[in-house]
Amino acid sequence: MYEILQKKRDGKSLGKDEIFFIINGYTNGTIPDYQMSSFLMATFLSNMNKKETAYLTEAMLYSGDILSIAPKGVVDKHSTGGVGDKTSFIIAPIAAAAGVLVPMISGRGLGHTGGTLDKLDAIKGIKTAINAGPFVKQIKKVGCVFGGQTKQIAPADRKIYALRDVTATVESIPLITASIMSKKLAEGINGLVLDIKTGNGAFMAKKSDAVALAESLKNTALNFGKNGYVFLTDMSQPLGNAVGHSIELIECIEVLKGKGPKDLTELSLDLAAAMIHIGGQANSFKKARELAEDLVSSGAALEKFIETIEYQKGDSSFVKNYKLLPTAEKKLVIKAQKSGYISEMKNKQIGLACIQIGGGRKIKTDKINLGAGFYFHKKVGDKVNKGEALVTIHYDLKYKNVLPKLKHLFIEELIVIDSSSSKIKNNPLIYKKSSFWSKK
Ligand code: URA
Repeated sequence: MYEILQKKRDGKSLGKDEIFFIINGYTNGTIPDYQMSSFLMATFLSNMNKKETAYLTEAMLYSGDILSIAPKGVVDKHSTGGVGDKTSFIIAPIAAAAGVLVPMISGRGLGHTGGTLDKLDAIKGIKTAINAGPFVKQIKKVGCVFGGQTKQIAPADRKIYALRDVTATVESIPLITASIMSKKLAEGINGLVLDIKTGNGAFMAKKSDAVALAESLKNTALNFGKNGYVFLTDMSQPLGNAVGHSIELIECIEVLKGKGPKDLTELSLDLAAAMIHIGGQANSFKKARELAEDLVSSGAALEKFIETIEYQKGDSSFVKNYKLLPTAEKKLVIKAQKSGYISEMKNKQIGLACIQIGGGRKIKTDKINLGAGFYFHKKVGDKVNKGEALVTIHYDLKYKNVLPKLKHLFIEELIVIDSSSSKIKNNPLIYKKSSFWSKK
């Protein structure tokens, strides 16, 4: 391992055997965290070529089982991550209600972003560590699973992901490609919808880097014979209004009830439509989108969400009574100090600020405070009057010492109000969407 570390540190490329040695060794425990951290940082700093990225993906994929569900109609979505990025809870049940089989394997929080698996922990009783047999049984019965990496499915990503979260080694195209694709390919999918985020709350803040990541993910999917869609979407401000765990789940249920914020609803319906189109339940994107809208307005998608949660032993009564979710002890409303238009939200710093009140991990063993979070009353482009609420901080008393700093941060830095100009030009929510189809 020492020699491999030296090689990568010096910017040399690694061979297939070396990469498999590292991944297998770390997965089975013979390579310790400190050497793996060093490898991740060396990779972060000196990058990997396409061949190395492909070997890394394969090694991580074959670290565990590959599920076999059905010859067609098995489709998932994966986002590269962001702040308030919560579409999985909405689109998986919509697509499953349309008849798509959705084996959603997600991760925990990563860097400044929240994780689907951690958000699921807010639901009392729910089991997300599901092994291959029960996983396949559930998907055939319910059409949808919300699971995580396990010792059987994507075990290498399970361990490496947790280490990257706390070692500042997330924003790397080869590491993200292998992490995402090893999980998704292990699910036995036929098709994949990729939501590539860009803007200051994304891991690829620059659009050119996001496009390079999109190419890397798409090429890997094509090499494995998968069909798909790629979306390039905005992450320069939180998606929706809620950032946290319980409060994001509530916002998703509101979307499934047809009452959610416009941006989150719009993106979710488009992503669900792409899944339905690849899944073969509609023969055009337009028809798939209409079907997705119908499944929300009829309540079928919400029913599918409840069915999935209950199958996984979760208590779904929170859908009717949000107070049953973990709730923060206190709320603090931060008000605008001047009038104007919101011109910018420092999204990455917002994600990092959430960690300060327990909404993320500083070290691997940290327990997340599921009730903590931020609810934004205003977003970029909105008009605001002096004294109006900008954001409500949900926090527990043990974090009260960080509140003066947070309050100052929100007012002075994180939410920028432009008092001079009139209207602010907002970024498009979706920069680009395109389908890709495997020739195989
Ligand atoms: N999502 C993942 O699953 N892995 C990453 O590395 C980044 C986003």
